[in-house]
Amino acid sequence: MSKRKLSRQQRWRIEKVQAEREQRAENRDSRDSEKLAAGEYGPEQPGRVIAHFGRTLDVLPKRASQRSPGSGANDPVRCHMRANLDGLVTGDRVIWRHGQDGSGVVVARSERDNVLERPDARGQLKPVAANIDQILIVFAVEPEPHANLIDRYLVAAEATGIAPVLVLNKIDLLPEQGGVLRELLARYEALGYPVVTTSINTDNGLDALHHRLAERTSVFVGQSGVGKSSLIGCLLPHEDLRVGALSEDSRKGRHTTTTARLYHFTGLGSDCDLEGELIDSPGIREFGLIHLDEQQVAQGFIEFRQHLGQCRFRDCRHRQEPGCALLAAVESGQIHQQRFASYRRIVDSLEDTNKH
Ligand code: GDP
Ligand code: ZN
Repeated sequence: MSKRKLSRQQRWRIEKVQAEREQRAENRDSRDSEKLAAGEYGPEQPGRVIAHFGRTLDVLPKRASQRSPGSGANDPVRCHMRANLDGLVTGDRVIWRHGQDGSGVVVARSERDNVLERPDARGQLKPVAANIDQILIVFAVEPEPHANLIDRYLVAAEATGIAPVLVLNKIDLLPEQGGVLRELLARYEALGYPVVTTSINTDNGLDALHHRLAERTSVFVGQSGVGKSSLIGCLLPHEDLRVGALSEDSRKGRHTTTTARLYHFTGLGSDCDLEGELIDSPGIREFGLIHLDEQQVAQGFIEFRQHLGQCRFRDCRHRQEPGCALLAAVESGQIHQQRFASYRRIVDSLEDTNKH
């Protein structure tokens, strides 16, 4: 909270702007009520937010049948929302009504399955997208991934309750035997995480990726340079402008606030009946270790869970306490020591940020 004192005039101006804003919302609401009463809006129907711009949203009507090509029934409708409906995000399922002028009004939001949050400029967590089925954590043969970085993404994903999937891209650059990366992947597979290996250059694994994405809503996250744009470009070959626009933003180093968008994709070639949804924005791609406490980090290492609460001391921090169940599990090989080292590093980095 800023301690800066506002002058009386500044305060007056802020209050005036706020009052005007409320008045506008009220007016809009009463106009809506009149229109609703006058039957200017169609019946309530379900839809999904695919983009939002301030107080207007693009809503995709929920499709009555799987497909109705060319009917126009599946085109997004520009909607505004009732004043009581703040904070809708891309991916939200909503109830909306079609207006006679072609626009619409969102009247309610359905319960969210989950929500992805990112800190805003002031460090406060803000929802950016909702109802996501899986987070694809992309890493690549180059730039070489650190196990710790993958663990950070996994912990962040586990904290949201959204299922993570590991995608190793650029396998065309993998040495013959696969080396340490194959070992690393095997370790994550053994923990139960799905793993997909891909190469844009040789088309390797892209079918498997399509199958992974089918019938689900996914987001791609990961370090810059691993090939997220390239992979998304394969899924959305008609959205080529977008990828260029994104890289332009990141070149300028701008902390971009570009809104998240939901894209629908269909499969390629023999898999053309595969369909799925992708939510993407520069902010989502950067999703990483949002602020978590020590316990959430421990919970984020899924193989630790069965040992948590088993330590001799209830407030055990798993450092060198006697009777520590985690240390014992590392000792016996049930927990891989590299995963435990990762856990330590993440917890230590939390302490560092807390000091500042
Ligand atoms: P992003 O920053 O994660 O979006 O990564 P980009 O999609 O921009 O890709 C970074 C670089 O890696 C580009 O030069 C791509 O051409 C290259 N790249 C992407 N996928 C592959 C791949 O499968 N194999 C190889 N060798 N290069 C790739
Ligand atoms: Zn312990």
